[in-house]
Amino acid sequence: MNMSEKSKAHVDSCRFCWMCHHICPIGNATGQERNTARARALGISMVNRESIDLSEIMDNIYECATCGACVHECVTGWDPVMFTKETRLQAALEDKLPEYINKMLDSALELGNPYGKSELDRALADAIETHSDKNDLLFWLGTDARYMASSEGIRAIKVMEKTGVPFTVLADETASGAQLDFLIGGAEETKEQMLRAAEVMNGYKTVVIYDPNDAKAVMQTYKEYGVEVKASVMTYTSYLAEAVESGKLALKKTDKTVVIQDPYQLSRDLGESDAIRTVAGAVAGVEEMLCNRDQTAWAGNILMAAYMPEIIKKVAARRIFNAKSVGAKAMLTASVSEYVALRSVEQDEVEILSLEDLILGE
Ligand code: SF4
Ligand code: SF4
Repeated sequence: MNMSEKSKAHVDSCRFCWMCHHICPIGNATGQERNTARARALGISMVNRESIDLSEIMDNIYECATCGACVHECVTGWDPVMFTKETRLQAALEDKLPEYINKMLDSALELGNPYGKSELDRALADAIETHSDKNDLLFWLGTDARYMASSEGIRAIKVMEKTGVPFTVLADETASGAQLDFLIGGAEETKEQMLRAAEVMNGYKTVVIYDPNDAKAVMQTYKEYGVEVKASVMTYTSYLAEAVESGKLALKKTDKTVVIQDPYQLSRDLGESDAIRTVAGAVAGVEEMLCNRDQTAWAGNILMAAYMPEIIKKVAARRIFNAKSVGAKAMLTASVSEYVALRSVEQDEVEILSLEDLILGE
């Protein structure tokens, strides 16, 4: 396979290693060796040695969430996310993507979302319309909130309104490129989508990004791909934390206690884990569960649930089990995608909360 020498070296180092097998949220959910960084490396190395065809490993390549837990754990500095994304790109170039990924890819390219959606929910469109005037501050909702979790999108807009600062929400918001990056890595199409989003963001002084997945893309991946955003970019969580600290967002303490499910994009990739605790602490008692802050375990997402729903449910159920194990009655996440995944698990022992649930108390 046409792969960079750097990725080949990482593949050859990972393929016989077992050191991070305990850390993969998917491997832990399925109990299968195929869902480890090492197994993925072994498959890629067999393709590189022409023992098997690239198409034979692609299902397995898309079973990785690219959450980076293995990268973070690796004491020798090898990077399974890098070679997994490169393999996806190569499969796209060689027309060897699985059919279900091709379908999502076509939709992401044509409609800006991988879910085949062409229209916003009416109530969300109305909420967006009330913020159509141009302001210095742009609130970037993101694809998942716009098309797959519109009630959370509406409630996030309500939370932003509580800060009293005027802001704009775009009816025709483009995709950030984060989902294309997951599907096909750093392809030209991914960079073009990112450039289009950056151009829109550059028309504002400040951009507050709701979805941690978009925040990671804009604040980290764009730089890797040479896409420049001149606007000041903030995560939704850090914006709310600043609003709490400055008194712009006045919150009332309740007798609730929550444990924090840190989205890896914030806590591991962007080094931000205090902000959610600042906001949560203004409303509730805050406790910690196993694997917190930059050691967090991913709890599932909307995009992967679109093609492997049962496994994503198991991933989320495992994370809820972690919360139960410390006696938690409520679990708070700042990721709309993790929120949907966690709520897809049928259980009534741990209340799953978003920041919107906590702040609006609805
Ligand atoms: S990422 Fe590090 S710990 Fe994990 S398989 Fe590769 S070399 Fe081993
Ligand atoms: S990036 Fe995450 S999902 Fe992928 S192998 Fe590593 S730990 Fe597992």
